[in-house]
Amino acid sequence: MKLPKQSENFPEWYNKVVQYADLAENSSVRGCMVIKPYGYAIWENIQSVLDKKIKELGVVNVYFPLLIPESFLKKEAEHVEGFAPEVAVVTYAGGKELEEKYVIRPTSETVMYDTFSRWIKSYRDLPLKVNQWANVMRWEMRPRLFLRTSEFLWQEGHTVHQSLAEAEEMMMQALKMYEDFAKNYLAIYVIAGEKSNLEKFAGADKTTTIEGLMRDGKSLQMGTSHNLGQNFAKSFSIKFLDKNNKEQYPWQTSWGVSTRLIGALIMAHGDDQGLILPPAISPYQVVIVPIYKNEEERKKVMEEINKMIRPSLQDQNIRYFVDDSEKTPGWKFNHWEQKGVPLRIEVGPKDIEREIATVANRLSADKSELKLSELSKIAELLNSFQSDLLVRNQKFVEENTYQAENMDKLKEMIDEGVSGFYKSGFCGSNDCERKIQSFKTTIRVKPFAAGKQKCLVCGKEGQEVYIAKSY
Ligand SMILES: [Zn+2]
Repeated sequence: MKLPKQSENFPEWYNKVVQYADLAENSSVRGCMVIKPYGYAIWENIQSVLDKKIKELGVVNVYFPLLIPESFLKKEAEHVEGFAPEVAVVTYAGGKELEEKYVIRPTSETVMYDTFSRWIKSYRDLPLKVNQWANVMRWEMRPRLFLRTSEFLWQEGHTVHQSLAEAEEMMMQALKMYEDFAKNYLAIYVIAGEKSNLEKFAGADKTTTIEGLMRDGKSLQMGTSHNLGQNFAKSFSIKFLDKNNKEQYPWQTSWGVSTRLIGALIMAHGDDQGLILPPAISPYQVVIVPIYKNEEERKKVMEEINKMIRPSLQDQNIRYFVDDSEKTPGWKFNHWEQKGVPLRIEVGPKDIEREIATVANRLSADKSELKLSELSKIAELLNSFQSDLLVRNQKFVEENTYQAENMDKLKEMIDEGVSGFYKSGFCGSNDCERKIQSFKTTIRVKPFAAGKQKCLVCGKEGQEVYIAKSY
């Protein structure tokens, strides 16, 4: 199964990678995906790392209902406006029309905060910090596996605090966690910062984001963390008595990442041969392919694998797979390359005589010999692979970031098909932002340490932002 060239037809390349690498497929429910074992294993690895990090922030896991009374969603004006076009509604159950309709959660702010209003009475109940791993539904008109599906999996963190400063700190802690995870586990060199007014979350005072640059030059929002201010607290009557026995509205945050991160992995690292997975997240870090011509050779090679290689990899806590299926070695090489496994170990009878194995690297495409007595170096090779992948991605981001001083320059680059991050100045006004959107580009992020730069639309004082086409 040969993939289309990434440079020639990126969307088709993406679809085929998802298919050939056995990550997911479309289901009989339009817009809803079936996540296959290999794709789900990636999600499980993402979950297990993030779940630990979330708990390290003092956040505990909870579960809230899938269905939300429709009236809840209407309580926060901006929030309902933002989500109304995407919600699916349950109107019929138990053999009759329901008196109150239920919305299938597009996100859980409303159903959680209604409950929080009963949980929180005093400053002693704060901070309240919970997280939920769940599925959500946002009806998609143009679904794409992992990137835009009507149902997807995610985690959503929700916290309540006594002060704005505490909420702001929590929002930043969550975003830093995502930035660290993207760089050090997914090997994606994200740009972290603030969303513009028209791009922020419906109902939030401030939205922060991490944005990754995909290999077609489009930006992907990979995670967001919001300071909700007191907006929801006021809509849902969450109040607490402070130390002076005075009634106050608390300050809130919410933050999340989803199965979209798998789409990010595919598009940030993949090449014409298929996926390239970072060892920190890859379901298998090493695949072992025995090479033999007959049954006698097969026995000899498998014995060596079982005696020498397996125990060494187990000692190093490496996730590995021995492919001793009936397929040819060439088929197996291609198959595991498409699935993005970082390292492949090949062993044949001649290698055993020479007490070596051949190690093939998915990223550099190099093959090298490794002495069987030095198998303990595999962990080191995986560490180098992980850092090389991040370096490659950082270089890609740097090489595909351009200056756009004004709208003419931006238009010129778009017309010439130059795609990537366009670095510009922006004054912050909605009018200027709408003009940028009219080029089918959006302000993706204002980096936290943004310098001053004149607005590309109006020429007034502004701050540096990254503009791009996006998913
Ligand atoms: Zn402006």
